[in-house]
Amino acid sequence: MQYFKSNTVLYLNGQFQKATDTTADVYGQSLHYGYAVFEGIRAYNTHNGTRIFKAKEHFERLKRSAELVHIPFPWDVNNLVEQTYQLLKLNKLKNAYIRPLIYCAPNMSLIGGTKPSILICAWEWDAYLGHEQLKVCISNYERPNPKSTPIEAKLSGNYVNSILATTEAKSKGFDEALLLDMNQNVAEGPGANIFMEKNGKLITPPLGNILPGITRATIIELCNVLDIEVTERHLSVDELKQADSAFFCGTASEIAGIASVDDYKFPIRWVDTLGATLQRTYKNLVLEKQNYEVII
Ligand code: PMP
Repeated sequence: MQYFKSNTVLYLNGQFQKATDTTADVYGQSLHYGYAVFEGIRAYNTHNGTRIFKAKEHFERLKRSAELVHIPFPWDVNNLVEQTYQLLKLNKLKNAYIRPLIYCAPNMSLIGGTKPSILICAWEWDAYLGHEQLKVCISNYERPNPKSTPIEAKLSGNYVNSILATTEAKSKGFDEALLLDMNQNVAEGPGANIFMEKNGKLITPPLGNILPGITRATIIELCNVLDIEVTERHLSVDELKQADSAFFCGTASEIAGIASVDDYKFPIRWVDTLGATLQRTYKNLVLEKQNYEVII
């Protein structure tokens, strides 16, 4: 995967500069300790031009992530959105994945709050989990206890947990992992939230031990539009393994159907699931098409 070419431009602290000319300090807490926060955003080539989906919500979450770990956030969210549109234009990107990262100045101590930098880069990226239904396993790793690091922050250090879970799942022949929380309830994937379907209704874990996904919130909004009943509550593995269907959702993966969890195969064909309906509706929404589906 090539993330940049010789003419790729990125945004760093108010300037646009070539990716190949950009360096990062190697004595920072971000590189050594994972003390950085980031976002994952998508832009779509719509009939209204290139549109960044929920841009403001993502930069607001970036701000909140920084605040939760005491990294100063001296930037204006609206300005960052404008700069990101400019970044896409400079790189001639229409469909893109956008990665803002806030990292800290040289400091090898364990005292936070160091002067931050903001980097925004973008590249073309297909659906992160692919287009096939996924074989998922329950991970041996748990999501971090929110009392260890704020789980609601998109904190770089938390992604060691994600890397370990995905690597383990792949090494066992699965496509992706599903992590439990510290109480053994279903939490989320390494980079996506989860919904399960049972008897025509959806259930998703509540906020508290998961990243508050912007796609998750969008799905809940779409369920209201489509009259799909959706409940936020704790889910056990046993309950998930009696569900009719399930799917992951996230900015990078969008809506990705799950075929099985461990050796349990979901009985409903993907095309007949609520997830498939939401997948089509979500695509319409991000592409700014107005034809929402209605279930009767
Ligand atoms: N959970 C985790 C751990 C994630 O990394 C992501 C991706 N940001 C999500 C959930 C989904 O969040 P969003 O829909 O905001 O991309």
